Amino acid sequence: MATNKKVTRVASSTESSVSTPKWTPTAEAKGRASKNRLIAVGLWVLAILAQIVGIMILVKNPTPLTTGLRVWLIVALVIDLIFLIIGSSFWKKANRLDPASKQNALAFTIQSQAGVGVAVLAFLPVVILAFIKKEYIVGAIATALMIGGGAASADYHAPSVEEYTEQTNRVEELTGGNHVYWTKSGKKYHLYNDCSAINTNKTDEIFEGTVAQARELKNITELCKFCENRAEKAKGIATE
Ligand SMILES: [Zn+2]
Repeated sequence: MATNKKVTRVASSTESSVSTPKWTPTAEAKGRASKNRLIAVGLWVLAILAQIVGIMILVKNPTPLTTGLRVWLIVALVIDLIFLIIGSSFWKKANRLDPASKQNALAFTIQSQAGVGVAVLAFLPVVILAFIKKEYIVGAIATALMIGGGAASADYHAPSVEEYTEQTNRVEELTGGNHVYWTKSGKKYHLYNDCSAINTNKTDEIFEGTVAQARELKNITELCKFCENRAEKAKGIATE
């Protein structure tokens, strides 16, 4: 765990992170983020194409639709939803590999919550058309799918360069290196692989890597408090 990387601190951890170097993704992570974004956009395009199929059913046929056509329309909208949600999960993964900066709040929101925008794009036209055509059941279902798809596409703990910087610096400050442990079912990353919070679930395989990797692979956003206290104590003894 210990590396000989020297971390020099002039002030306590309460200092602003402006003076510390910014976290940057590795070239490899950046490359994989781009690939994930490309897949996301491809899936989102397929979602919108599925919506277009639904719109065509509404446009090309007299309303009220026959039951058969209504079923096909709903099938198209469910396919729309599936492509939307899978696309959004690739997008969120890309953001964990290569997060946006909070320096520009608008750009940060657009990048982090792009999937919500796509949910509106992939459903609102068909919702409006269904109500215009008095296909109220279809309209209601499409509205529900839009809300569900939007909720599934939102990133409730959107990663940012600033958060990665802060968390990585904290781990480096405590341990002298950027090396943490986590498990498949855990919600926190640990500084010690023998932490009692890890060992409570002995069937779990322990993974290790950087703070960013814990985030990327398992969306773990928090440092274990036991490990933090233990490291603080160990550090206190070491510097005294
Ligand atoms: Zn721990």
